[in-house]
Amino acid sequence: MRTVITGGAGFVGSHLCERFLAEGDEVVCVDNLLTGALRNIDHLNANPRFRFVEHNVSEPLEIDGEVDNILHFASPASPADYLAHPIPTLKVGALGTHNALGLAKAKDARFLLASTSEVYGDPDVHPQVEEYWGHVNPIGPRGCYDEAKRFAEAITMAYHRYHGVKTHIVRIFNTYGPRMRLNDGRVLPNFMKQALRGEPITLYGDGAQTRSFCFVTDLVDGIYRLLHSDYALPVNIGNPSEITVTQLAQEILALVEGTKSRIIYEDLPEDDPKRRRPDITKAQTILGWNPTVDRAEGLKTTLAYFRSVV
Ligand code: NAD
Ligand code: UDP
Repeated sequence: MRTVITGGAGFVGSHLCERFLAEGDEVVCVDNLLTGALRNIDHLNANPRFRFVEHNVSEPLEIDGEVDNILHFASPASPADYLAHPIPTLKVGALGTHNALGLAKAKDARFLLASTSEVYGDPDVHPQVEEYWGHVNPIGPRGCYDEAKRFAEAITMAYHRYHGVKTHIVRIFNTYGPRMRLNDGRVLPNFMKQALRGEPITLYGDGAQTRSFCFVTDLVDGIYRLLHSDYALPVNIGNPSEITVTQLAQEILALVEGTKSRIIYEDLPEDDPKRRRPDITKAQTILGWNPTVDRAEGLKTTLAYFRSVV
């Protein structure tokens, strides 16, 4: 199999490249390094089945030869990143997805879109089921990401229904693990960096908002199963173990022995979702998937990574 992974030099993308190489595929990683880094894929360069192409997928995308699978993961993902790059975020969700789907159609390849729990916005259905249409503020600061992904889902379904392209949509919930960027602004790298440096832990709002954190190898396994299924409608992949952000801060503080860090409170960003937890019944029943790495183990592995880069 020959698999194209857009955003392959990012956090999730680099783990996907690794997994598809391990399965014996040839992997073409396409990335413009906006929020990714070559060091994430350095260790893959020696593999003759791996190729890196530096390219902005919002511009027309051409790949020589046969292609069996296209995984479209290119997009800033951290709120700090998409707030800093709102227009490239909208473009890669819209034009980038159109280009990647066009390539899938031309090559008769399977296509998988990286969507997000953000399509549910600040949800008033809990836990979030795939049938829920969401509660998104299109003109708020997060709209550039949420609406780009909602458009991306819509155009993916249109290519599926109108052109008969074999497509899949994964709605990814908060995922963590090695190779997250230390300074990407997401809660987990922030808290780990702060705890390791003995800096204040910045809790936004009162810390009562919840998230559900999935370890990256579990996510990758769910994606691999979804790509090889016949299911075209969106599937949530995430770990349903839900905690408050305060609890996450306490767990990280407890892990970093001897840290001098203390919690401080900062303003809650606009439209910050109050509760988030995936209903994973579809992933369980259709894909036979369940998360296998619990938070205690996942946080330990991730902390070891951040210790090596902090
Ligand atoms: P990341 O920022 O580490 O990776 C994104 C990658 O896409 C980077 O390497 C970046 O350089 C690349 N990219 C961005 N714009 C591009 C463009 N126009 N052309 C080519 N490459 C481009 O983020 P991540 O956490 O690895 O997220 C990967 C994907 O998964 C994103 O689509 C994101 O929306 C989705 N996702 C991630 C999470 C999560 O918790 N990590 C949650 C929901 C959805
Ligand atoms: N958050 C926080 N302190 C930080 C970074 C984030 O309290 O230094 C909170 C943020 O307000 C949100 C949650 O942690 O409620 C998760 O934020 P993140 O940016 O990781 O991703 P989101 O799930 O909001 O997309």
